[in-house]
Amino acid sequence: MASKRIIIIGGVAGGMSAATRLRRLDESADIVVLERGGHVSFANCGLPYYLGGVIEERDSLLLQSPKSLQERFNLDVRVRHEAVSINRSAQRVLVRNLATGTDTEERYDALVLSPGATPVRPLIPGGDRMLTLRDIEDVDAAMSTLISAPRSALVIGAGFIGLEMVENLVHRGIAVTLVQRGDQVLTPLDPEMAQPALERLREAGVDVRLNTQVAELTSDSALLDDGSIVPAEFVLASIGVRPDTSLATAAGIDLGERGGIRVDDQLRTSDPLIYAIGDAVEKTDATSGEARLVALAGLANRHGRLAADAIFGKAISVKPALGTAVVGVMGLTLASTGSNEKLLRSQGRNIRVFHTHPASHAGYYPGAETMALKLIVDAETDAILGAQAVGGEGVDKRIDVIATAIAGGLTGSDLADLELAYAPQYSSAKDPVNLLGYVALNAAEGLTPAIQWHELDAELAAGAILVDVRTAGEYDDGAIPGSVNLPLDEIRERHAELPGGRLVVHCKVGQRGHSAVRLLAQLGHDVVNLDGGYLTWRAGTAASLVPVP
Ligand code: FAD
Repeated sequence: MASKRIIIIGGVAGGMSAATRLRRLDESADIVVLERGGHVSFANCGLPYYLGGVIEERDSLLLQSPKSLQERFNLDVRVRHEAVSINRSAQRVLVRNLATGTDTEERYDALVLSPGATPVRPLIPGGDRMLTLRDIEDVDAAMSTLISAPRSALVIGAGFIGLEMVENLVHRGIAVTLVQRGDQVLTPLDPEMAQPALERLREAGVDVRLNTQVAELTSDSALLDDGSIVPAEFVLASIGVRPDTSLATAAGIDLGERGGIRVDDQLRTSDPLIYAIGDAVEKTDATSGEARLVALAGLANRHGRLAADAIFGKAISVKPALGTAVVGVMGLTLASTGSNEKLLRSQGRNIRVFHTHPASHAGYYPGAETMALKLIVDAETDAILGAQAVGGEGVDKRIDVIATAIAGGLTGSDLADLELAYAPQYSSAKDPVNLLGYVALNAAEGLTPAIQWHELDAELAAGAILVDVRTAGEYDDGAIPGSVNLPLDEIRERHAELPGGRLVVHCKVGQRGHSAVRLLAQLGHDVVNLDGGYLTWRAGTAASLVPVP
């Protein structure tokens, strides 16, 4: 029997995972990888760090070459070869050799599309000199500009790649302006969780302009839409990516409602012989079940492997996407999984939200850092819908644990009972994830009703009294306007001093507030806790005070 011929379009994250997995499954298959760029299997996630000089050698980004892939996996990898069109009825791809300009037709039994996504470029006067970052050609262009030692840089867009670029440009000693159209950085996170990143950027001297757009570029500066001019010798746009669906569209393959290639749970497109993976493809959102674009390397790699399994004939079923992600910003780590509060509230979901501020490891062991954690659960089922974390060490670990809990179908309350590794330098006997579980469990049982930082003003306007249960010293160092101070340890003796109506209590992080709620409720008061305490309120309030021009 003739061997199966599989053509893979795109030779980086998804495409190369599919190719190597296919070879491991089927030694006889004829596997051709077409890549229009000059390199395959490169580390696009490392590009910002090469530009910053953290990764010193360009070669470190090039993980494989056509030759190494031929030798180890017997793959026919053709760089500078572009798939120009797909003739589905004849099962052929028209391929252009970009070095020679010659076209050939290649037959396939199965075709895998992993063409990735294209960076979106703002259309503004002077925008031609704006750089984007996607591949080795882009990084070479950026590096050739950086070698001329620009003193100023403008980064447009405060998402993951934008912030990584800001960090690396600062690392090179360049003065950076960061322009973001929306009112917060890192929009996958909720504002109070992203606020520490904004503060860290400003502390590092980055000129962050929120609610602002670039109107025009001149040769070494940029005019912003508020009329100000900022220095911009180096300009990089990172305002998002658009799925590269050009080939699929021209071939009559169905797109989904978000503009990506639509696939089923076998990663098959509307043509059963054509599979699609990676950034070009719509995923199913784990919390809403709706179509969602998620441009992340982990998904591209996993789906590449799964597509190979499906082509080989193994049973697969693609799981919905959580969009678990992590980013480092000036020594701060921010991570998230699942949906955020903004999105869930806009969808009208009935949710419960919890903020905690635990130490990364046992407080008595040197070096513990405070992190902020946020958990969102479905108010009816307690199912975990999302989590976010910001801080130093151990932030990524906690989000990965919660992402795993979501995948395993655990509830918020189940987190209380997870048996997690502990020694003082790594965690606490009650890990931060366990503590989140305790808070979720208390809420599920109705033990401690709570409100969010953004609900406080409405409570106070309706007549509630805000009681700060921290010590007098803490209160004097900074308090929420309008609050009265009654330290937790004095509540039993002095609670009669409190007025009879509804009380909102708060402490620094929410834990003493929880004890105060339990005590006051048993003493007959109508009382709720301010979730996450003063720290969450302060971050959220600071984030919501961002001026809109
Ligand atoms: P790609 O890896 O982009 O590969 C697509 C390839 O297809 C391209 O090389 C393209 O040239 C080729 N191609 C397209 N059309 C054709 C055609 N017609 N013929 C031939 N070849 C074609 N994700 C994370 O999870 N964590 C990170 O830290 C992270 N950091 C990133 C940093 C940067 C700077 C960038 C750009 C991305 C980062 N990502 C990160 C995202 C991650 O790299 C992508 O999600 C992943 O590469 C997507 O894989 P893919 O196979 O869909 O596309």
